[in-house]
Amino acid sequence: MNAMDAPTDAQGMHGLMAELFPHVRSITGPGLRATLDVLGQHLPLRQTHVPTGTRLFDWTVPDEWVLRSASLTDPSGRRVVDSADHPLHVVSYSEPVRRRVSREELEPHLHSLPEHPDWVPYRTSYYRRTWGFCLTEKQRRGLTADAYDVVVDADLQPGVLSYGEVVLPGSTEEEVLLSAHVCHPGMANDNLSGIAVATWLGRALAERTTRYTYRLVFAPGTIGALAWLHDHLDLLPRVRHGVVLTGLGGPGPLVYKATRRGDAQVDRAAAHVVRRRGGEVRPYSPYGYDERQYNAPGFDLAVGRLSRTPHGEYPEYHTSADDLSFVSPDRLGDAVAALLELVDTLEGGDQRYRSLCPYGEPQLGRRGLYPSVGGTQAEDEVMAMLWVLAYSDDEHSLLDVAERAGVAVPTLRGAAQRLVEAGLLTPLCPSRLTSALPTTKPSA
Ligand code: ZN
Repeated sequence: MNAMDAPTDAQGMHGLMAELFPHVRSITGPGLRATLDVLGQHLPLRQTHVPTGTRLFDWTVPDEWVLRSASLTDPSGRRVVDSADHPLHVVSYSEPVRRRVSREELEPHLHSLPEHPDWVPYRTSYYRRTWGFCLTEKQRRGLTADAYDVVVDADLQPGVLSYGEVVLPGSTEEEVLLSAHVCHPGMANDNLSGIAVATWLGRALAERTTRYTYRLVFAPGTIGALAWLHDHLDLLPRVRHGVVLTGLGGPGPLVYKATRRGDAQVDRAAAHVVRRRGGEVRPYSPYGYDERQYNAPGFDLAVGRLSRTPHGEYPEYHTSADDLSFVSPDRLGDAVAALLELVDTLEGGDQRYRSLCPYGEPQLGRRGLYPSVGGTQAEDEVMAMLWVLAYSDDEHSLLDVAERAGVAVPTLRGAAQRLVEAGLLTPLCPSRLTSALPTTKPSA
């Protein structure tokens, strides 16, 4: 089956997001582990737990945060803000507090969005101890009492940081890294869409025979990616290509952010896939998600990033308006299809062929290669064969042809396969290509 026809079960992905939505995720804690437990029902996922205090390059694993509840109660006993209503209501990593504070003292601990008075913002304070509440601007305007009872019922003490990993072995030890962050609570596009797309992509890859080994990493942002890198330094030379997956269910066409070096194979392959789908390619910048860690000097992995409208460029970003209705199942399904095409492009894009019938165009009709029924699809199939034949000169890879023809690599691969079966082409593996080249070595 062609990769683009692969069933992507968009409703299933949206269902997984709905299941994961209520868990109060952070960079540590039970909500993160519960999320990994759910993913383990879909994929052979292994969890790693890194103790508080572990040094990870320039970072240290912080205390684990376990939230039970957080609320603001007015003097009449009315709860005016409650984390049970929405996980974004409490600043992630708020330290425990239980006391009455004046309205004035409360003020610097409140976060709202005057420009979007019905939305709750997302705030964190992982590495600086404080507490805080996020609320709608309307709720904030209603806080007219002189004092409030503040409760953050939480533990902030030594524990673990957890990440999940799935290894889908290929026929070689060369790897493709697919990474999604798993630390955001109460939002859908950031980061549940990346998690759902990575999970469905992993499920599809598990059914396939691949050349590369595919490794899916589900880790909390920054510190989790660094924990994975720290644990896998020996593996890194085997990572050939990688993509960070995030923000794939929101509005807008696909956006590929290139690797730091900008000229990696994954950059070329992803640019081809994304541009054909009306998407956009952007250069690397040191701001964003975990591509910052993977690409950093020292690791220098060729890891790009695939999203739709990137973080910070849509108003719902990091607010309660990024809810399940903000994410469309169709866009999730389209993202998986694009990623499967990228996989096929990485797997087979460097394949070259030699024509066994050069000196003019071979007679396709005589070999039954002209479809008996016409139509657009039949024309496309013939065109794909003509493109492959035209460049089966030992030199041009399928991706070279794909870029010139504006045709997907999997389509060209199918055409090449038909031509091989008809005895018109032979595939060249890199070693055969080398042996076929003229050698300067004197013959014995
Ligand atoms: Zn985010």
